[in-house]
Amino acid sequence: MTDPAGPALAFSAAIEDAAVLIRKAERAVVLTGAGVSTPSGIPDFRSEGSGLWSHDEPLEVASLNTFRTAPERFFNWFQPLAGQIFNAQPNAAHMALAEFERAGHVRTVITQNIDGLHQKAGSKNVVELHGTLRTVSCTNCFRKFEAPPFLQPYIETGEIPQCLNCNGILKPDVILFGEQLPQSAWYEAQRAARQCDLMVIAGSSLEVLPVARLPMQALDRGAHLIIINNTPTYLNVRADVVIMDDVATTLPEIAKRVFHG
Ligand SMILES: [Zn+2]
Repeated sequence: MTDPAGPALAFSAAIEDAAVLIRKAERAVVLTGAGVSTPSGIPDFRSEGSGLWSHDEPLEVASLNTFRTAPERFFNWFQPLAGQIFNAQPNAAHMALAEFERAGHVRTVITQNIDGLHQKAGSKNVVELHGTLRTVSCTNCFRKFEAPPFLQPYIETGEIPQCLNCNGILKPDVILFGEQLPQSAWYEAQRAARQCDLMVIAGSSLEVLPVARLPMQALDRGAHLIIINNTPTYLNVRADVVIMDDVATTLPEIAKRVFHG
C-alpha cells in the first residue's frame, strides 16, 4: 500500500524547494523547450504521434536542403504548423516566467521554441536558439520583414510568400534541420549559462544538441539546477530539484510560493 498523500507531499516539497532557489538566485536563467508550447496547442514536431510526423519525415521535409530544392514541399508541410503557431496564445507557464523576469528573479529566457510566445507573454530578454517565426527573410536579396503580413495569406491560401523587393522566396527565420544555430544567439546563450547561479529547465527533454549541453556549462561553474519536464532527462541525477510534471501547472505553483510565500 502506498500512502496517497506521499506523492502530493513530495510534489509540494519540490515546489517549495524550487521557490526557495528562485528567490535566492541573483542571475537565474531559464531554458525552455517544446513542453512550454504544447499547452498552447503547438505540437512538438520532433515527437512521434504529433500528427505531423506521420505525413512526412520532419527531419527531411523541414531541412534546409528541401527548402532549397523543393520549397513547395516545405511550405505545404509547414502550412498547418504555421497556422497553429500564428494563432497560439501564451499559457500559464509563459505568464509565470514573464512575471519572474519582471520581478527580477529571472534574467534571461533561452528558448528552443520559434513561436514568440515568451515575448507575447511579456518576457523581454529572450534568446531564440532555433530562430523565430516572427520574421521572414528573402532568400535572394536577404531583406528581412515582419512575418504577419506574409504569413497570414500563406496560412490561408498555401501560396509561397514572396519578397516585395525582388519576388524572391521568403524563408521564415526559423532554423531548419541541417542549418547552423544563429551564432549571436548561441554565444549569448552560452554566456548566460556560464554566468548564471541558477538554471531552470522548463519543458525540455535535453535531447537536442548543442542546446542540451548548456546546463552542463552552468553546473560546471557551480550553478543550481531545477528541471521541470514530463519525462526524465540525462541531467536529473545532477539537479537540485526535479519535478516530472506539466510546466503549465508547475510554474504557476512555484510563482505562487515565490511571490506569496
Ligand atoms: Zn528579396
